[in-house]
Amino acid sequence: MGHVERAARFVADPERTRWHDEALWHVRTRRDAAARLVPDWEDLREQAAAIKRHALGRLPELWQAFETNASRAGTIVHWARDAREHNEIVYRLLQERGIRRVVKSKSMLTEECGLNPHLGKRGIEIVDTDLGERIVQLRREAPSHIVMPAIHLRRREIGELFEREMGGPKGIDDPEALTALARRDLRARFLAAEAGLTGVNFAVAETGGFVVVTNEGNADLGTALPDLHIASVGLEKILPKQGDLAPFLRLLARSATGQAMTAYTSHFRGPRPPSPAAPPDRPGSDGRRDPELHIVIVDNGRSRLLGTPAFREALACIRCGACLNTCPVYRRSGGHSYEATIPGPIGSVLETARDSRTHAELPFACSLCGSCSEVCPVRIPLHRQLLAFRESISSDDPHRRLRRWGLDLLGRVMLRPAHYERLGRWGRAFARRLPGTWLEGLLGPWTRHRSLPTLPSRSFRELHRERVKARAAREDGR
Ligand code: SF4
Repeated sequence: MGHVERAARFVADPERTRWHDEALWHVRTRRDAAARLVPDWEDLREQAAAIKRHALGRLPELWQAFETNASRAGTIVHWARDAREHNEIVYRLLQERGIRRVVKSKSMLTEECGLNPHLGKRGIEIVDTDLGERIVQLRREAPSHIVMPAIHLRRREIGELFEREMGGPKGIDDPEALTALARRDLRARFLAAEAGLTGVNFAVAETGGFVVVTNEGNADLGTALPDLHIASVGLEKILPKQGDLAPFLRLLARSATGQAMTAYTSHFRGPRPPSPAAPPDRPGSDGRRDPELHIVIVDNGRSRLLGTPAFREALACIRCGACLNTCPVYRRSGGHSYEATIPGPIGSVLETARDSRTHAELPFACSLCGSCSEVCPVRIPLHRQLLAFRESISSDDPHRRLRRWGLDLLGRVMLRPAHYERLGRWGRAFARRLPGTWLEGLLGPWTRHRSLPTLPSRSFRELHRERVKARAAREDGR
């Protein structure tokens, strides 16, 4: 099933389509209001884009510096070429320590690598602790948005889920009551966890530290209680200096949700000191293991994208989700219609770059309105990249020659008004004799979701000429 069919399933529920569209547009307007309050907003975007350009041009050097400084601080650094290596490293770290229960804060990279099923199959319980992620995990489905993973669900549906999975009361749909239920359920899992996994928003070469931002504080709790913290980071997430964080932290929250700052900005550098408060008999801890911090640096196709000048800017993405919130196609077709880890405009670029065969349809799920490029805090020219993908995908089209020949012919005809008019007259007369469905079939999938207007018997030019003639006759007769 392609994007068009999956989108059709989403829009078959007009009520859901309407509030999904409205909810995301509301976030977009909050982002606009927050951006307007920062007088140097455009300078900040330019600064962030320049830092990313600079960093992407020096990745090997920056990661080497990061490794040296992180190791000095006691962090153990691992390198993974692809998703398989990443999952094996994480599994080995857990297995060697006999760990069976893990909590995870939101990380699109671990989604991309398929870490949850990998660990689940090997008998390790992995619990997503971000509320939205937990909801989609319990429903056994993928997040539909990179910042608001359960935005496609009604409160009532979440209430039914919690009733089933957490023993909540019947008919519950009050957000506060739902959050309280989830908190109660998660608290027990935090306390029982033997390891905490997180993603990384920004790694800093100068210090060997990294930053994780959340709105729920789940990354802090998930890494403060267990003795093992494993962080997974994509190759593109490095910044040269600690001072470079400032523009990104100012841009990220405002672009994502319209907040001035995310509720929790946690800085990690080396393992935390052993907690004197941890009782030796706390579930999940033997009370003797020294805290450990591991970071897994993952390539998984990023260096290939880095070597493609037309698309490398996509690696500057800070996963704020602003391009999804503003995209008219995403808002009305839902995140699952993309069937990709990252949906929306940035997903269409990254996923197509990763696997252009599987995701060949995604660059065409775009109106080319340019709104995504307009809001992107790091100025990624998303719509241009999607257009470039269309060109490269179309160059493999077996009918390309025929199309080009047809367009050349049309171009010649349109340059000669008399030919154009004659062809229009013949074409109209011919098409009016055919049943409408035949013509729609001839034009292919383009017409599947569009209805053709009834063809007029006369062209605009003919009507216009007749009117001019009639007016002249009236004036002569006066
Ligand atoms: S491409 Fe830009 S707007 Fe879209 S998620 Fe990434 S940083 Fe945000």
